[in-house]
Amino acid sequence: MKRFVSKCPICGGEVVKKKVDKVVRGGHDVAILEVEAGVCLKCGERLYTKATQEELQKTRDRLRSGSTKTLKRVGNTYIPA
Ligand SMILES: [Zn+2]
Repeated sequence: MKRFVSKCPICGGEVVKKKVDKVVRGGHDVAILEVEAGVCLKCGERLYTKATQEELQKTRDRLRSGSTKTLKRVGNTYIPA
């Protein structure tokens, strides 16, 4: 497992772990996932772990294929059930 970076690759600022709402778009639908991200205190750059990136990709694929059973629909938005 690669360790979470603590320096921003963009500006070299300090990166802290935070829960953030990540908007994922796939097809015509949008999901909002609460994920843990590294957020740069200086420039606001968000960094995601590989596992989180994979989860986001999976959600994107699910939205595109229309199989959103594990996501709760709120209007035109899917959130994890
Ligand atoms: Zn930065």
